[in-house]
Amino acid sequence: MAKSEVPVVVLNAGKEKSASRNHPWIFSGAIHHVVGEPKAGDTVEVRSAHGEFLGLAAYSSESQIRCRLWTFQERTPIDRDFFSKIIDRAINNRLCRGFDVHDPKSAFRLINAENDGIPGCIVDKYADILSIEILSVGAERFRQTLYELLVEKIHPRGILERCDSDVRVKEGLPLRKQAVYGDVPKIPVEMIENGIKFDVDVWNGHKTGYYLDQRDARFNVGKYAKAKHVLNCFSYTGGFGLFALQNGAKLVTEVDVSKDALAIAESLIQKNGFDKANVELVEADVFAYLRKCRDSRKTFDLIVLDPPKFIESKSHLEKGARGYKDINLLALKLLAPHGMLATFSCSGLMEMNLFQKIVADAALDAHRNVQIIERFGQPSDHPVKTSFPEGQYLKGLLLQAD
Ligand code: SAH
Repeated sequence: MAKSEVPVVVLNAGKEKSASRNHPWIFSGAIHHVVGEPKAGDTVEVRSAHGEFLGLAAYSSESQIRCRLWTFQERTPIDRDFFSKIIDRAINNRLCRGFDVHDPKSAFRLINAENDGIPGCIVDKYADILSIEILSVGAERFRQTLYELLVEKIHPRGILERCDSDVRVKEGLPLRKQAVYGDVPKIPVEMIENGIKFDVDVWNGHKTGYYLDQRDARFNVGKYAKAKHVLNCFSYTGGFGLFALQNGAKLVTEVDVSKDALAIAESLIQKNGFDKANVELVEADVFAYLRKCRDSRKTFDLIVLDPPKFIESKSHLEKGARGYKDINLLALKLLAPHGMLATFSCSGLMEMNLFQKIVADAALDAHRNVQIIERFGQPSDHPVKTSFPEGQYLKGLLLQAD
């Protein structure tokens, strides 16, 4: 192979199917051999066993996902112009969906990794700050270009790299958390979500700082809260609870293990002009708290269960499923007559059908007659590419018991 040529990853016979259907991942087991010596992050060509061109990809020597495809089109240079077009498209399609990058108080996901064409790269906007998580060696290679383009197009006050998730280790990437442009304040950033003010700790908050993906659910579930006692489990900074208060909830009980998250939740009650007397903040393990409520025969009118990801990999499926069953069973038992439960799973490996079955089993065991009255998914700033079903991870059900 001449030096200037791009290395070629040749797949095993029959393994071209997924790439020919525009799926962006090539697993190590699908690879027959590699022509050339690509280093982590290098751009490679992917070809079928018959030599047919399938796409251009970032090569990742340490990951099980050995190649992440940038494009399925031949003769597409993977350069500044390539990323510029992707970012323009993301800015424009977010605008069509009601999210303006130039709105100084808005918060939304601008780049949703594979689904927006940049595998492993998440760009979240919180007011005038961009908080970025990079989870693949390919996006890591182009990060400087990406930051320059984002500065040029969006003019943020600052850009923070939140590259401190353990997932990076699997990719052979170092952990980093640093401001890479401008000024990223150490104090929480204020943004507005559907009329409610939030403070986001971009440096230390979970993920890139906040759970933008539950925006629609927080708004929709809040509408059922009038005059109710709401139990918000896994509350983080109290999002579901604040929307419940906005809709006239009688009392909101926020439960989370994170002291820092609850401290922000407390300050947000005042910041949004709600009465502290209507809120109870509980630092506890939700499993233990629900059992305690069961033992003391407490009931609630509306319960929210928004747990962290219980299923990280296929080997965790069974244990994770048991976790979902447990909390849903406990919560259903705590519902007052006509009580509602908004229950979620952000585990991509738990499909909606299975989740619904688990909830149905929990209802049987709880001896409650339960109806599904709404279904939840991802908001429009967390799109799912049709050729990448893995992009769909968040699901939820709103239930009502007799
Ligand atoms: N509903 C929140 C997001 C929840 S994320 C929102 O709308 O913003 C999951 C939360 O669960 C995190 O805040 C984490 O601190 C908390 N958590 C994880 N395990 C927990 C446990 N066993 N008990 C209580 N909280 C837990």
